[in-house]
Amino acid sequence: MTPEILDLLFPNKLPTIKEIEKRYPARQLPPGAVVSRLAPSPTGYLHIGNFYQGFMAERLAHQNQGVFFLRVEDTDQARKVEGAVEVVLRALGHYGIMPDEGAQIDGTECGKYGPYTQSLRKEIYQSYAKEWVKKGLAYPCFCSSEDIDLMRKVQEKQGLRPGYYGRYAKCRDLSDEQILENLKAKKPFIIRMRSTGDYNNRIVVEDLLKGKLSMPDNELDIVIIKKDGLPTYHFAHIVDDHLMGTTNVVRGEEWLSSVPLHLQMFKMMGWQPPKYAHHALLQKMDDSGKRRKISKRLDPEANIEYFAQNGYPQDAVLEYLLNLMNANFEDWRKQNPTVPVMDFPLNFQKISNTAGALFDFVKLHSICRDVVARMTADEVFSETLNWAKQFKPDFAKKLEKNSDMVKSVLNIERGIGPKSRKDLSKWADVENELSYYFEAPTIDAAVWAPLIESDVKKIASDYAAVYNNDDDKDTWFNKIKQVASDNGFAANMKDYKANPDNYKGSVADVAKALRILMTGRAQSPDLYQIMKILGQKEVSDRLSVVG
Ligand code: GLU
Repeated sequence: MTPEILDLLFPNKLPTIKEIEKRYPARQLPPGAVVSRLAPSPTGYLHIGNFYQGFMAERLAHQNQGVFFLRVEDTDQARKVEGAVEVVLRALGHYGIMPDEGAQIDGTECGKYGPYTQSLRKEIYQSYAKEWVKKGLAYPCFCSSEDIDLMRKVQEKQGLRPGYYGRYAKCRDLSDEQILENLKAKKPFIIRMRSTGDYNNRIVVEDLLKGKLSMPDNELDIVIIKKDGLPTYHFAHIVDDHLMGTTNVVRGEEWLSSVPLHLQMFKMMGWQPPKYAHHALLQKMDDSGKRRKISKRLDPEANIEYFAQNGYPQDAVLEYLLNLMNANFEDWRKQNPTVPVMDFPLNFQKISNTAGALFDFVKLHSICRDVVARMTADEVFSETLNWAKQFKPDFAKKLEKNSDMVKSVLNIERGIGPKSRKDLSKWADVENELSYYFEAPTIDAAVWAPLIESDVKKIASDYAAVYNNDDDKDTWFNKIKQVASDNGFAANMKDYKANPDNYKGSVADVAKALRILMTGRAQSPDLYQIMKILGQKEVSDRLSVVG
């Protein structure tokens, strides 16, 4: 390729390869350290699958004395959304997944291997592309979209593999004169790689998650620089992950079929490729019991923000995702109930990857309840308040006004153990779970069964006459037993079970009636403590509702 053509293809002054390589020295890290990254396209949204992938990459780096960085892949300028980088960083930050290098919330960058935003690296890609053109490893392509359509139709008609390759690559062997003529005529062009691969050769790929795979080599002369001068994903991946010293690429399995292409490009550059880990996409079970991938269109939980908005505890989301990655997570948690979630040793060999991990709300909620049960009342209070300030300001005010009461309520039956309270799974549940402290419940007559309303009235008025908020728990319970036996209910379960026909019911039915009067529900945390917190007057008022 003549210098004249090179200058016409790349008219801007570009840094030399030497200068670039000098700006990106090899990283000085301990042997075996992992450098990994999350490389989202800034489309205004972080899919839970990308978050899952970023978390995996982060764990891999930080568990192996390495570096995790964030790279903004904004080469598709048409899809770029203002503020999208902030969305990603906020989502990661919410879970404490902090990149060591890369774009930051305030619009600056940190780290020595930047810029970490691809649109700011245009001249770097161009410099490498120019080098390839110079060496004959790439060439300008002047094909119009009509030319490409025609090529496709011909290939389709003849039952051939589709694509720009071999003799279908019209611009592959243009002479310097033809190129010059096109450039002088100001024909738009792109730069294509001159593939060195043969489709009939098989490439063996060692994937950290998928294992050993054999795939046909790449034969396509893929585009490396687009009309706007920016690189395609493939070219940017090679250049960036080399310069930034990435050792491990964790990405979605939609890129798996591109691995032969990427290995070919690394070889053409004379660079060492990273290790690849392609993870299966997260799936869910649809209503008809079929697995399908989590879709942005159908599932609100596809957006990682859904979990923050609905007040899911951060640790629970992380625990759940780790549980999807490594099936032994739960055993580890049982053996280490108080250890921070980030101390879990994620085992890459044990990430199951035959099918996509199945995202399941029932399991997530059960993990949430365990996580909340392990927290102190103060922690639950402050997390709920933080959440409410952002998403439910009226409830936040209520919480602040009643903070002592709410904390005592949250403290009932708290702690690790079989009897620990498991009623809360997320901060958004707290308002409903605590509603009866803020106002007397509305009671639906149907809930009394098997009791009849006249009995409930009598129980309530008898109990109101003896209730004393200062009683200790034994006295409190003895009074309930007394009211039970005065009204024809067995004072203890043993008597009732021995002669059920002799009684209207047992003390448990009486306690249930009182519980419903206090809380509006048949199940609640410890009733004695609830009454204590409500206070003498409020208890009496609630007892008088049916009286
Ligand atoms: N921007 C690419 C994507 O969002 C990144 C893939 C990669 O991690 O290399 O799919």
